[in-house]
Amino acid sequence: MKPRDRILFGLPLAIGCGVLLFALLFYWQQRLFEASYMQDARRNIEQEAQLVAHIVRPLLDQGKLAEARAFCDSFTSDTLRLSLIDASGKVEADSGERAAILSDHSDRVEIRAAFLGQPTTVERYSESLNQWMIYHALLLPSSHGNYVLRTAVPTDRARQMLVLARQNMALSLLFGGALVFMLTLYILYRVRKPILALQEAATAISSGDLNTSITIPQRGVLRDLAISLGTMTEQLKIQLARVVHERNQKDAIFNAMSEAVMLLLPDGTAIKYNRAAAMLFGLFAPDARFNLVRSGMPDLLAKAHQALKDDTPFESEIVFRRPEGNLLLFVKGYVIHQDEDKLLLLTISDLTQQRRMESFRSDFIANVSHEIKTPLTCIVGAVETLQEEEDISPEARAKLLDILAQQSRRLNLLVQDILSLAALERKQNNRRQNFTEVKLDSTLINAMNLCLPKAEEMQIELLITENMPTSVQGDCQLLEQAVVNLINNALTYSGSPRVELALKQEHGLATISVKDFGIGIAPVHHQRIFERFYLVHQERSRELGGTGLGLAIVKHIAQLHHGYAELESTPGKGCTFKINLPL
Ligand code: ATP
Ligand code: MG
Repeated sequence: MKPRDRILFGLPLAIGCGVLLFALLFYWQQRLFEASYMQDARRNIEQEAQLVAHIVRPLLDQGKLAEARAFCDSFTSDTLRLSLIDASGKVEADSGERAAILSDHSDRVEIRAAFLGQPTTVERYSESLNQWMIYHALLLPSSHGNYVLRTAVPTDRARQMLVLARQNMALSLLFGGALVFMLTLYILYRVRKPILALQEAATAISSGDLNTSITIPQRGVLRDLAISLGTMTEQLKIQLARVVHERNQKDAIFNAMSEAVMLLLPDGTAIKYNRAAAMLFGLFAPDARFNLVRSGMPDLLAKAHQALKDDTPFESEIVFRRPEGNLLLFVKGYVIHQDEDKLLLLTISDLTQQRRMESFRSDFIANVSHEIKTPLTCIVGAVETLQEEEDISPEARAKLLDILAQQSRRLNLLVQDILSLAALERKQNNRRQNFTEVKLDSTLINAMNLCLPKAEEMQIELLITENMPTSVQGDCQLLEQAVVNLINNALTYSGSPRVELALKQEHGLATISVKDFGIGIAPVHHQRIFERFYLVHQERSRELGGTGLGLAIVKHIAQLHHGYAELESTPGKGCTFKINLPL
């Protein structure tokens, strides 16, 4: 039996035990009463026999049997029955029955014993009177023969009372038993079942299942308890929903932060990090673990150790070395106390792009200034000469004017390139582009036609080897400009006798390629060739009027169309520049 059931069934069990104990006690009392009653009856009957003997014995001695008989007959069997039996067993007198009808009494136990000189008391059922009696017999010796005097009283009334008491007790027992049975049933169905249901519900709730249904009893003490439990569960649900909502909100904010945030244990293991941190350290796999010790940032590890030791925050620029390229990170660390433990909170921002932009801007300004300076110096020099020299020959004047025209054209081209780059960047940032359907095959033909005069002048063969009809969404003029830039470069720098143009569709891309068979470009330049102002052959390019913006423009035009530009080249064998655009 479980402790709960022990408490529940304790009451009926106690009542049952009480009833049983009461019955035992009653039975014992009754036995005591019976014993003492019988003892009293025996003593009384013996005393009464002695008294009667005092009266009857002298009568028998004197031979007055008739008087003795009359004396005996004067008693009634209800109070005291007197019998006088002679030695042959014949009943001479009896106050209960007429002596004549009574049979031979010599076989009666008490009488036989009395004749042997043993006064005896017995209780037995009287067949002549049909009731329980208590008998006492004693010997009356006389000169006219021996007699036995027997006194008797009925014990029926006492026995009847005892039987009645026993019956009452049995009834009480039955009643008590029924009460216990009913109480048990009541507990089983009205108390135990709802308690069990409530207990099950409470267990489910405590193990986190707040959707458990709680059965509310119709009435009884458990109704209030069940209602309270239900209300408590509802409150818990509301609280939990609020907590979840708040946590989701915090998570959303946490993950929306552009800064990487991490919470580390003193051993360097990350226990929480946001999306930016996962992106930074590649922690998207389900089994991904971050540990500062193995992160490849020894400087940060040292700073973290120091911060945890001294309990002080820190700020530092850290280089994060990775195979894909190093990153410059700005890291702030704070020590957080949680109970007994210390945790380290890191906020990390990536400075790489910002630094790149900064150096890019200063480089750009330096490059622009440098590119402008050379033609400007030439122009200023030419103008000063024209102003100062009065008797200048017509040939020299013509040469100076030539320089002026050439350098201002160069300046103009430079400014145009810079402006078109700036315009491209604006377009890239501002995604509202007015793209239309562009037939790339026509673009290729137009670009070739634009460059044909220059090719003929330089005696370079310019031809289209493949021109697959292809359409993309884009800006027709920009795409044409990109192809022209590539053809011009091939004509200007490669020294190739032939330049081949092609338009193909490969792997879901439209690919325009401009191929020459000239000097080629060494692999060291491949990574930077599309950067602004990057020149491969510095002196030669400058002589030829290049500023290094053409390929940067090509790259930006490709990117604006969600594509990319690439270069394949083997030095001495030529170059193939490609513009790849998604179809
Ligand atoms: P711009 O195009 O702005 O007038 P540019 O031609 O010098 O100036 P880019 O078009 O960006 O600048 O080219 C960069 C450099 O790459 C050139 O100066 C040249 O040295 C080299 N280059 C470009 N195309 C070829 C080619 N087909 N063969 C060999 N070298 C090339
Ligand atoms: Mg160019």
